[in-house]
Amino acid sequence: MQKVLATLCKIQHTDTVIDLDQALELANLPFHELPGLFAVASGVRERGFGRNVSLCSIVNAKSGLCPEDCSFCAQSAHHATNAPQYPLLGQEELVAGARAAAACGAGCYGIVSSGSGIRAGDELDRVCEAVRVIRTEGLIAPGASLGTLDQATVQALKSAGLVTYHHNLETSRSFFPQICTTHGYEDDVATVRLAKQAGLRVCSGGLFGLGETMAQRVELAFTLRELAVDSVPINFLDPVAGTPLGNSDRLTPMECLHTIALFRLILPHVHITICGGREKNLRELQSWLFLAGASGMMTGNYLTKEGRQPEDDRQMIADLGLILAEELLR
Ligand code: SF4
Repeated sequence: MQKVLATLCKIQHTDTVIDLDQALELANLPFHELPGLFAVASGVRERGFGRNVSLCSIVNAKSGLCPEDCSFCAQSAHHATNAPQYPLLGQEELVAGARAAAACGAGCYGIVSSGSGIRAGDELDRVCEAVRVIRTEGLIAPGASLGTLDQATVQALKSAGLVTYHHNLETSRSFFPQICTTHGYEDDVATVRLAKQAGLRVCSGGLFGLGETMAQRVELAFTLRELAVDSVPINFLDPVAGTPLGNSDRLTPMECLHTIALFRLILPHVHITICGGREKNLRELQSWLFLAGASGMMTGNYLTKEGRQPEDDRQMIADLGLILAEELLR
């Protein structure tokens, strides 16, 4: 215990980046030490980002009927859920969503489609055209999350003016086979690499509460560090009836905050955004997400579930003495 407290003290006063052993020790920190961990993580956030935090927003641009079998997902065709099913929205709707997101204070707008990946043709053309318009208007940075990429797709998106490509790894390499059997972890890693190589800002993270251990969360954080992603979204499972994980217990708020703090210490200079499931998992401790080291959150609705009102999120940020800063996302 002395050793781990010494590590925390060192991080607090220097730019120490923790190694795997230190991260695993911090993952086992006793409950009564967690507030101290949060304070250190909050300090690391402040050193890297000052008081600046950001909001991002998404549109469920194409919903349901996904051929993949991710065990948590409402949109998989393998599970019987009540998630909406519709084809890709029109260009006007995609652009209107960007304007609405900008008006809410979001700095990045993600066009998210279900499915394994998008390829050349009408759908890609429509997304690219929407991206072009959004970039030209300049109200918000356009992002997309369209599944796995190939070279032609990523180049088309980049040429259209896409700023951020989002592609979650979801969980650790060692746990992934237990949540998805229709594609491999390395397919997702390859997409992250392709987006990085194309010069896009890459947003890639995971979903917690799937049954993974704290050590496996640490494993994911180190994979993301190795891939040099620019932004890490953290989601917490809000179980969906009809999926294999529909009866899972939610994480406790303190476990969520512990996870956020570990990610901040492993990825001290990476933007960390708290996304789906924050309301149901963090509950009354939602505002602590920044005090545990996060530098952003998703606002508005999620893919298949309602989120908080953006004005409530902006109020939370103001009450914490933090500042909304869009440049974190550009
Ligand atoms: S998480 Fe994505 S790839 Fe997996 S089933 Fe859902 S929409 Fe498909």
